[in-house]
Amino acid sequence: MLTNKELFEQAKLCIPGGVNSPVRSFNSVGGTPFFTARAEGSSLFDIEGKEYIDYVCSWGANIVGHANKTVIARVTEALANGFSYGTPTELEVVFAKKICELVPSIDKFRLVSSGTEAVMSAIRLARGYTRRNYIIKFNGCYHGHSDSLLIKAGSGLQTFGNPSSSGVPEEAVRHTLVLEYNDTEQLVEAFRVYPEAIAAVVIEPFAGNMNLVRPTSEFIQQLRELCTKNGTVLVFDEVMTGFRVALGGAQQLLGIKPDLTTVGKVIGGGMPLAGFGGKAEIMDCLAPIGGVYQAGTLSGNPVAVTAGLAVLDLIQQQDFYLRLANSASLLMDGLKKIANEEGISLSVDSVGGMFGFYFSDRVPQSFAEVKEGNQELFNRFFHLMLDRGVFFAPSMYEAGFISAVHDSRVIDKTLAIARDVFKILYTQ
Ligand code: PMP
Repeated sequence: MLTNKELFEQAKLCIPGGVNSPVRSFNSVGGTPFFTARAEGSSLFDIEGKEYIDYVCSWGANIVGHANKTVIARVTEALANGFSYGTPTELEVVFAKKICELVPSIDKFRLVSSGTEAVMSAIRLARGYTRRNYIIKFNGCYHGHSDSLLIKAGSGLQTFGNPSSSGVPEEAVRHTLVLEYNDTEQLVEAFRVYPEAIAAVVIEPFAGNMNLVRPTSEFIQQLRELCTKNGTVLVFDEVMTGFRVALGGAQQLLGIKPDLTTVGKVIGGGMPLAGFGGKAEIMDCLAPIGGVYQAGTLSGNPVAVTAGLAVLDLIQQQDFYLRLANSASLLMDGLKKIANEEGISLSVDSVGGMFGFYFSDRVPQSFAEVKEGNQELFNRFFHLMLDRGVFFAPSMYEAGFISAVHDSRVIDKTLAIARDVFKILYTQ
């Protein structure tokens, strides 16, 4: 039997950095990642047979618990009918109808295979619809790895940002403006400086890629108003928050209707499935009826859609989100209490099945404030918890997730371990 360390050495020889997505390598917290052999309920099991309580939940995709029996049964049945046809299926129609029913701002919906594709397509669509080029994104939000969204903030509105990845030409981000999250003044200024030029504003309506950061109600309302006034398409990137914070997503909790919404993660229940949708008038600009091209060989894959439909059924159960939100706040309130008892500054927040904890005395409202958190303490906490069988996201810039099977027994166990860890956090 290989150890995680041995397999990681082998992996690095044949996969760049040993992983198929960078944050899995523990590049932020250091150390060797574990290799998952299987998952069940609220736990992952690595190749050494060690069990971890999982608060990453496939970066938010897993909301009903790993290897859910109902989902497995339906996927198994679907497998027998073949995996991909290259023709439309009834399943896709059922799925799109269901999404339109659950999210009132979505009149029409199209499926793709990843969140990156969903946001990239929504941006192209917004540009095609408005016949404008500029887009606005916010510092600390992540929208996948398409070229025009891989950008670091510049030093002000008039200075353009730089690509945050090599291989992205400056020209590709020339029309992307990066503003600070929750900075209403900057937003007003951007619309003043670029009148009738901004095609879309894309935002994580609760940000989860700089840890969890909420929008202020003033900011999000102004954003909606400014977009409406300026004929700009408001895109809510709900790849993380969709069906995660509430059945109707962040837009339901915030009471704001975006023009386009992107979803992913939860809707595929762990299968490669994502999508985007919104106003019919905008969606109808897509090929084959409109001039905005967008396509995918595996889009609407029948196995992935079946898994998604099974998950959508499960999350519509009575009080599903109430229970999820209660579990998340039980975990966060407990963590804060025991940290504070040990004299450690920790603040916490949670929305539905998504949470954030910050080694800082206040809940941050921007990327700059998240950065004020104590990185060294976080990294130590992460590893001490991991050693004891609790897997939190391996970076202080990521939100955490729970599933419906993270019950009070699992949370109590986590808190008991955390209590031991907080006691030795400064000494280890
Ligand atoms: N948007 C958001 C808000 C995300 O959190 C992510 C992934 N973490 C993406 C887009 C990209 O999704 P994917 O990794 O499926 O391409």
